[in-house]
Amino acid sequence: MRTPLVVGNWKMHGGLAEARELASGVRDGLKRPRGVEVALCPPFTALPAVAEVLAGSPIGWGAQNCHWEDTGAFTGEIAPGMLAELGCRFVILGHSERRHLFRETDDDIARKVAAALRHGLQPLLCVGETAEERRQGLTFTVVEGQLRAGWAGLGADEIARSVLAYEPVWAIGTGVNATPAQAAEVHGYLRGLVSELASKETAQSLRILYGGSVKPDNAAELTQQPDIDGALVGGASLQAQGFITIAKKSASRGGSSKE
Ligand code: PEP
Repeated sequence: MRTPLVVGNWKMHGGLAEARELASGVRDGLKRPRGVEVALCPPFTALPAVAEVLAGSPIGWGAQNCHWEDTGAFTGEIAPGMLAELGCRFVILGHSERRHLFRETDDDIARKVAAALRHGLQPLLCVGETAEERRQGLTFTVVEGQLRAGWAGLGADEIARSVLAYEPVWAIGTGVNATPAQAAEVHGYLRGLVSELASKETAQSLRILYGGSVKPDNAAELTQQPDIDGALVGGASLQAQGFITIAKKSASRGGSSKE
């Protein structure tokens, strides 16, 4: 049984005061979440403040990126050990904005995934096709390539400590989400690949999140699909109430979120 996971990706939004307020709102609205795990990924600068607000609560936190080296002359970069020191549970890697705006390659992402695992972080690897790739019928080819490359060299036990997110690029920040059927088709395909790359058992336990314009009013229909194990939420994670609603609607059947 996979407990759904709902992660808020705040991107480059919010100073310290806003971060504290937003994290406090989520914490207070989800005091005893049942049937769902929740985490917030604020900008690096807000991580200590968010960690302080969430300490002792069931809500976890994580980062939006990291470097692959442990230390060194890498101006402007953040090492995975630094994130582990701040109590991060997750690190988002291979987000389409990193791939497309910052030209991160599959090789960069694979090194980051391995480094995150070495430091006890759960890498949340994002894969997804562009609108043009979907039009050309390349969706499975693209996500398979990104997954194989991103997990290159990992053993089954390392894959088992990971999280995957299917995030079609055309759905991120556009207000156009994948239909439940479109998302479910790709999630099913990815789960089959996990089985091949790790094991059947790992494929059954590994969480595959959907991301791309998840909102309070479409969260349930997406996350209640059999192979969708929660959501990676961008824009809608910047409003505490909306994010709380998404988390509650993503709770596994039989589980309900109590305040
Ligand atoms: C994201 O940034 O991962 C994302 C899914 O963004 P949005 O929810 O705004 O589409």
